[in-house]
Amino acid sequence: MNRPYNFSAGPAAIPEEVLKTAASEMLDWHGSGMSVMEMSHRGKEFISICEKAESDFRELMAVPKEFHILFMQGGGLAENAIVPLNLSRGATVDFVVSGSWSKKSRKEAGKYAAEVHTAASGEDSQFTTLPDPASWQLSRGASYLHICSNETIDGVEFQQLPDLKALGSDAPLVIDFSSHVASRSVDWSKVGLAFGGAQKNLGPAGLTLVVVRDDLLGHALPACPSAFDYKVVADNASMFNTPPTWGIYVAGLTFEWLKNQREGDAVGIAAMERRNVAKAQSLYDFIDASGFYVNKVAANCRSRMNIPFFLKDESRNDDFLAGAKAHQLLQLKGHKSVGGMRASLYNAMPMAGVDALIAYMREFEKKHS
Ligand code: PMP
Repeated sequence: MNRPYNFSAGPAAIPEEVLKTAASEMLDWHGSGMSVMEMSHRGKEFISICEKAESDFRELMAVPKEFHILFMQGGGLAENAIVPLNLSRGATVDFVVSGSWSKKSRKEAGKYAAEVHTAASGEDSQFTTLPDPASWQLSRGASYLHICSNETIDGVEFQQLPDLKALGSDAPLVIDFSSHVASRSVDWSKVGLAFGGAQKNLGPAGLTLVVVRDDLLGHALPACPSAFDYKVVADNASMFNTPPTWGIYVAGLTFEWLKNQREGDAVGIAAMERRNVAKAQSLYDFIDASGFYVNKVAANCRSRMNIPFFLKDESRNDDFLAGAKAHQLLQLKGHKSVGGMRASLYNAMPMAGVDALIAYMREFEKKHS
C-alpha cells in the first residue's frame, strides 16, 4: 500500500518503518505476552524500553552528561508554565518574541514569574525576520531567556542559537525546540534547558521531552506541582508518576530509525540535517522562482521544517487543497491565524514527498495562470 504524503504540522507523519514495527509488536512485545501499553512502567520490560530510548537520544543528539533527559507530559503549552515554575526563582525572565509560540510562552510566564521582559520582538515585521541578537535588550540578573528556536506557525527558525555569554549575560538559555527537535544538531554549550512535544518529529502526542542542565534542578517555586518539578522527575528517572509509556516506546523506535539514517557519509542526525536542508531548499527555490506562490520570510530566517506559503490569488485556496488531496498530498492547509498553506517537512517526510508536492504545485500553477 502506498500511503499519501502527510504534510501536517503536528501531530505529524511518523516513519513508516516505525509504524510497522509498532504494529508487529502490538500484541506481544518481544515475547513478553503484553503490548507495551499493558506493561507496568516499573517492570523490567518497560524500564529497558525507557532506558534505551534515553540513551539513544543522548547518543543521537550528543547530549552532554551534565544534562538530564526527562520524559514528561503536558506538551509545549504546559512547559510554558513548568519552566517559570522551576527556573524563574522570583526574578525577571527575558523573552525574545519571534512568532506565535514564543508570544504564547511569554504570556503564560507572566502568571508565574515576578516580571516578564521582552528583550526583542519580530512582531513589527509580522514575524518574517528574527531580531538580531546584537540588538537584544537583556535584563540584568534575569533568571533565564526564552526563545522558540523554530516557530511552527510563522516558519522562522534560528539557524544558530544565540550565545548569551558573548552578549554579556549569565542567564541560561531556554529553547522551545518542539518543531525541529532531532532535525539538526544542538550546540548544548549555549543551552540551559530545551523542551519539545513529541508529536512532530519524535512520535505520538502525549510525550514531552525536556533536556535540562543539572545546575537548574532544585530551584522550583513552592507552588510547583511535584509531578512538574524537574528535580523530582529527574530523581525518579521520569517515573515519579506514570510516564507516557506508549509515547516513550514509539519515540524510542524513532530514535533507532534515526540512528540508521544515512546521507552520503553522514549518519544519524547529521544525515537527517543534510536531507532536511535539501528538502527545504528544493521547495523554497521552487516557490521563489514561481510568480504564483509566495513565502514571505527573510531568506536567512526560513524554517527547514515548516514552510508557510500563499497563493497570490487566494480565491483558489480551496481548489488547491482539494487538488492536493486528490494527488495524495494531505494536510497542507495553513494555520488558521495566518491562512494560506503550510508544508511541514519533518524527518519522516522523504525527498520524494517534496518532489511530489512541487510537481503538483507546478501543475496547478500551469492550469491557473
Ligand atoms: N511550541 C511549539 C513550537 C509548537 O509548535 C507547539 C505545537 N504546535 C507548541 C509549543 C504547543 O504544543 P502542545 O500543543 O503539545 O502543548
